[in-house]
Amino acid sequence: MIQVATIGYPRIGPKRELKIALEKFWKGEIAEPELQNTAKDLRKKNWQTQKDNGVDLISSNDFSFYDHVLDTICLLGAIPERYKWDGKAVSLKTYFAMARGSQTSELDVPALEMTKWFDTNYHYLVPELTKDQNFKLSTNKPFAEFEEAKKSNFNTKPIILGPLSFLLLAKGIDGFKTINLLSKILPVYKEIIKKLSDLGAEWIQIDEPILVKDLDSHVVSQIKNTFNELKKASGSAKILVATYFEDLNEEIKDEIFASDIDAVHLDLVRGTKNKNYVKNSKKKLSLGLIDGRNIWKTNLQEKIDFIKSNASGDIIITSSCPLLHSPYDLDLEQKVPAEIKKWLSFSKQKLQELNVIKNFIDQGTHQEELKKNVMDVQDRKTSKLIHDDAVKNRIKIINKSITERKSTYTTRAKVQKDIFDLPKYPTTTIGSFPQTSDVRQARAKFKRGELDEKSYDKFLEEKTIDAIRKQEKIGIDVIVHGEFERNDMVEYFGEQLKGFTFTSSGFVQSYGSRCVKPPIIYGNVFRPNSMTVRWSKFAQDQTKQIVKGMLTGPITILQWSFVRDDQPRKNTAQEIAFAIRDEVQDLEKNGIRMIQIDEPALREGLPLKIKDWKEYLSWSVDCFKISSAVVKDETQIHTHMCYAEFEDIIGSIAALDADVISIETSRSRMELLTTFEKFKYPNEVGPGVYDIHSPRVPSKDEIKQLIQKASKLIDPTRIWVNPDCGLKTRGWPETIDALTKMVAAAKELRLN
Ligand code: GLN
Ligand code: ZN
Repeated sequence: MIQVATIGYPRIGPKRELKIALEKFWKGEIAEPELQNTAKDLRKKNWQTQKDNGVDLISSNDFSFYDHVLDTICLLGAIPERYKWDGKAVSLKTYFAMARGSQTSELDVPALEMTKWFDTNYHYLVPELTKDQNFKLSTNKPFAEFEEAKKSNFNTKPIILGPLSFLLLAKGIDGFKTINLLSKILPVYKEIIKKLSDLGAEWIQIDEPILVKDLDSHVVSQIKNTFNELKKASGSAKILVATYFEDLNEEIKDEIFASDIDAVHLDLVRGTKNKNYVKNSKKKLSLGLIDGRNIWKTNLQEKIDFIKSNASGDIIITSSCPLLHSPYDLDLEQKVPAEIKKWLSFSKQKLQELNVIKNFIDQGTHQEELKKNVMDVQDRKTSKLIHDDAVKNRIKIINKSITERKSTYTTRAKVQKDIFDLPKYPTTTIGSFPQTSDVRQARAKFKRGELDEKSYDKFLEEKTIDAIRKQEKIGIDVIVHGEFERNDMVEYFGEQLKGFTFTSSGFVQSYGSRCVKPPIIYGNVFRPNSMTVRWSKFAQDQTKQIVKGMLTGPITILQWSFVRDDQPRKNTAQEIAFAIRDEVQDLEKNGIRMIQIDEPALREGLPLKIKDWKEYLSWSVDCFKISSAVVKDETQIHTHMCYAEFEDIIGSIAALDADVISIETSRSRMELLTTFEKFKYPNEVGPGVYDIHSPRVPSKDEIKQLIQKASKLIDPTRIWVNPDCGLKTRGWPETIDALTKMVAAAKELRLN
């Protein structure tokens, strides 16, 4: 018998209802009961959608007001002292203080650190645990949601983030190993499981995505016992341990399968090795058949064949990972062209796909649906929209003449020094300037057709000229045009490239109330026309200073899109890389002498297992070089990256061979630069000298000190001075103030 399950459903709302309610609540426009009602409504709708679409094991406790790791922090009472928690049931006030910081007279604290959830674009709040950390059941959330569902006649499968993932994703204060707290945390987990079982849960899902990573043997040796302990507390409830995002290593798989838990969830989309664990499995399996983090229709016949030849007995079928990473419902979609829409499947449609598989295998029904799926899948395979031989042929030959600059950095640097004649500690910015409300309004009006193209263009010209004059007045050495014409650094390029399409409804949660709407790459990518020359050239024509051209790199475009799944990601990246190469060449031809190619997402694309890093880094570095190496020695290539731990990948960053790299460093007070020092990073570096995420304006002396600190780590003749990242989220007054101080600091240091 086959059961269809969800292992987590999206929670922000089909129309982002939760986002809207949260933001109103934070502004004080609605009170807590109204927020709670919205949440209740959304949960109920989610359960109903799952039921209506034939889900047998419906999830609960997959809702969150902000983040499920934060929910677990509260559940376990692991709230850091600075939030002044009173030890009673955790209030929304304490909850949001951890999520977003608090600036009231009672409580003036920053938020918990936030970081990427595995290799997705979702961010979680990092638990902070002390050596003598105590845990205590401190919220009712999983129980209340289970009962809430029960009242509406849904018998749900509560989901709890497991103890191993929770501890290993947490930060140990003063560097102690958080896994040492396992014996202390387990009693609370057992209490939670017992309580859920007592309330009548038939299944309890323990999420342990961390098990797909490389774990040291000390951790591996504790897996079996941990799960046995949890099972002991479960009474009549069954325990499903869910792993996802990758394969399980053989030895980890053996430990889980040897434990007493009732079922294991395997990701069969990313985890190709996992497929070997299905045949003759001694445990009940939950098969993650359908891609939970992409938007393509599944080839159902393929999945049916797989089940028929591999699985036997009772199985659960579901998505590869929680549907948190998929948009809600394709029925709401209004923008994607019809011929592409029929290739797509969002969360609700994925449930329907699972149903076809189940019913076709168990009862031989749903033949019409299956037939339709076969047709749509075939249609996509053979569509003319997807295939472009010229593009496919272009990526076939990638050799050194394409990926290498003509001369080495040392030679280039000499040539560039002579022609640019920049002072010591040259100043610049990362690209964008404040996207003030007039900019956003004009764009919205233009998109709605209320502002004609000519007027919009004129408006952008004025904005650009204004930004240039401001930079000249402040005395910035290398200036930028300001990116006023861009909504988003990926969307702007996607809109002009072939092979991309956009949705009206394809939102996925990024963090808290923030959602992103990634473009869809469906076909071979190429650049029919120049994309940025118009604005870079316009800007250069307005000033004697050097204007830096501004592009988004191929890996970042890839990483922040829904990528086609019918060819390797590497090939898609290479196609984008050639499109950017064409743009770089065009900029150079049009008199742009410095070109920045941003790659903030290079690091987050790293595979989860270290054994796969080398391959990824090799093709991603090559992609950057395909884009950049086309220029003459005289043209200076910049790149920019933010918020990454560079230590593991500094070799690859150097291999990009950009003439200048600007990076985030100010929050870590230049600590990051020690990595560059140790590695003897050869090219020029612009360590960010102030944090653009905060409206706070640094003093001139603070900036000076940071530059001086940097100069001890890197040869001062190779240091640039710039903020951490683009300035689009800031206002003009603080931007002018901060940049003026930055320039003054650089000028004073030049005198030494
Ligand atoms: N050039 C982009 C900007 O300034 C870079 C953004 C980023 O690094 N995320 O906005
Ligand atoms: Zn940045």
